[in-house]
Amino acid sequence: MKQLRSFLMLVIVLLISFNFLISCKNNKITDNKIIATTNEYGALYSVLWAISPERKAQLLTQYKLNIHLYNQIIAKQNQFADKINKGKLSLNLVKWEKNNLIINETSNDEFIPAVAVDLDETFLDNSPVLAASLLDKRKFNHLNWDKWVKTQQAKIFAGVLNFVKHIYHNGGMIFFTSNRLQNKHLEDTKKNLINEGFPEELLNDALWWMDGKKLKADKVLKEKEDRYEYINNNKVSILGKKVNVRIMMVIGDDINDFNSNFTNNKGITYRENYMEDNNIQKLFGEPAMAIRFSKENDKIIKYYANCGQSVDTLLLEKKQIQEIIKENICWYKSYSLIGGNAMYGGWDSAFKKKYFEQHGTSYMKQAIREYLQKFTSWD
Ligand SMILES: [Mg+2]
Repeated sequence: MKQLRSFLMLVIVLLISFNFLISCKNNKITDNKIIATTNEYGALYSVLWAISPERKAQLLTQYKLNIHLYNQIIAKQNQFADKINKGKLSLNLVKWEKNNLIINETSNDEFIPAVAVDLDETFLDNSPVLAASLLDKRKFNHLNWDKWVKTQQAKIFAGVLNFVKHIYHNGGMIFFTSNRLQNKHLEDTKKNLINEGFPEELLNDALWWMDGKKLKADKVLKEKEDRYEYINNNKVSILGKKVNVRIMMVIGDDINDFNSNFTNNKGITYRENYMEDNNIQKLFGEPAMAIRFSKENDKIIKYYANCGQSVDTLLLEKKQIQEIIKENICWYKSYSLIGGNAMYGGWDSAFKKKYFEQHGTSYMKQAIREYLQKFTSWD
């Protein structure tokens, strides 16, 4: 009898412990679920915003303003024509008429203005990828990205086609400097753009400078900024003509699309100080003297085109660059950031880099908490 009582007591203790363990495990699952739901909730907001009429209105506004911005850059560069000592801007060499692109060769002292554009979330809308990852739990990875690119279904943003037509009707050219892969994604991306009404004759192979583009001796330039510099300093062969080109406008949805030698794979302070630099601030939305960065090993140099303005030394003072060099050329340029990609990008990676190790999937909350600490609390 005594033995039976002891046995029953043991069973009860074991059952209580087992329930406790199950309950702990469930609590843990619940916690994770809360985190996942919170993150998912934010992501759902991003997708709804991306497919809203407001987003369409924003993009139309942005691309119409980009047309004015391009005109302003050209006007400003022409105003300083006498100061240019590395070639003159020429607007009569690119002609686009009746679905036919004609390029005339440049002489050594003239150049064609060009616009460098990113594609994903700048020209093309990939919000279905995030939408599917939220609803069908399809993971975002390279395999699924490749499958999506192959479908050629990305929609082109409102206002893009009119902007492109304006550039070609006004003596300029557009270079595709996306980080899609040149080898793997080029044909599908081209077909996708054609499906969306992009004029086929403006998609010449010479205009594609995506990630992995092979240069002489199989050289590949990883950083976008190095690709821009290569285009500026080497003749581009297009439709049998060799032309000098200068990138005068850059359009992207990520800060890394502009001066990647300074910002790419860098922490938050680099990105924040970049946007505090007065020369960089000026470049967004108006013509200003061209700024570029070079990166070799750990040395970053800021170069500025000499158009008479003063150079901001902030990044040197912050020890984030090692040198500033004046270039003997008056060259105007401008940047346009297509705002509204709240789904992914350099901005999210930088927060993740800073907070993820310590805070795991709550990293977003921690970043926001620290931001909120800058304000006094209110009820
Ligand atoms: Mg992009």
